[in-house]
Amino acid sequence: MGFRCGHCGEQIEQHQPHCRNCTATLSWPSTPALETWKTSILFSALGLLCPALAVGALFLIFHYLFIAASPEALSVVRPILSVLIPILALAYIVLLLSYPSKVYPSYFSEKPRLRSARQISFLNCFVGGLVFGLLWNRNLTRCEKGISNYVLFAVII
Ligand SMILES: [Zn+2]
Repeated sequence: MGFRCGHCGEQIEQHQPHCRNCTATLSWPSTPALETWKTSILFSALGLLCPALAVGALFLIFHYLFIAASPEALSVVRPILSVLIPILALAYIVLLLSYPSKVYPSYFSEKPRLRSARQISFLNCFVGGLVFGLLWNRNLTRCEKGISNYVLFAVII
């Protein structure tokens, strides 16, 4: 963790109130996101559901375009989609890359990017899916960052 006792300089590995070497009281940096953290089951479920809904919506759009649309409707919809889909795809890729490497680790620091347990629950599950989302929620509950975010980051790259 890279935290040292302010009195004797002893390296502190575990979160504990006193230094084991000199028994000085340790002043831990505050972690606002962890202090108010409580897994939101509702927002975790929404985070898991959103990608499924988005894929379903895309499927319906393509179904409509290729089977049901008239040529006039196609000529209107196609330019909109050809701009919208790359923008959405790019935004999703940026989120996938930045969340595990920057946003998630910040929850364990003094300046978290987000503090709301609902927003964090949602994004954990939205980005991490079932496996990483629930793991991250659990890590926040235990105040342990773990290395799973780097595992996902490596998998994405
Ligand atoms: Zn000490």
